[in-house]
Amino acid sequence: MSVIFVDDLVRVHVLDAARSVGGKRKLLAYPYVQVRLGEPGLDFTVHLEHRNCWRGGKQSYFRCPTCGRAAFILFFDPARGQLRCRSDWRELRYRSQERGHRRGELIANATAT
Ligand SMILES: [Zn+2]
Repeated sequence: MSVIFVDDLVRVHVLDAARSVGGKRKLLAYPYVQVRLGEPGLDFTVHLEHRNCWRGGKQSYFRCPTCGRAAFILFFDPARGQLRCRSDWRELRYRSQERGHRRGELIANATAT
């Protein structure tokens, strides 16, 4: 089993998308965003879902291009050229559960589809 470390992945947060259009409220008007990754530039069209929030108002989510789930964060795997949510790696877990590893680090099973 080969392992992908999250350090090798690029994280794209929905707040990054909000920032790029001028704020969370403005993002609510967008059905999708273009996410550009790497050089020379790999563009993904990522659809957005705007859901009612329990506190009132609306909250935006990415719709994962790989599985369609709503996600705050997408991970780009440069080795595979794929943009996916966390759920798409089956054995993803926090490394902090293992002694000697940095908190918040994730590992993923690269063989999972
Ligand atoms: Zn997904």
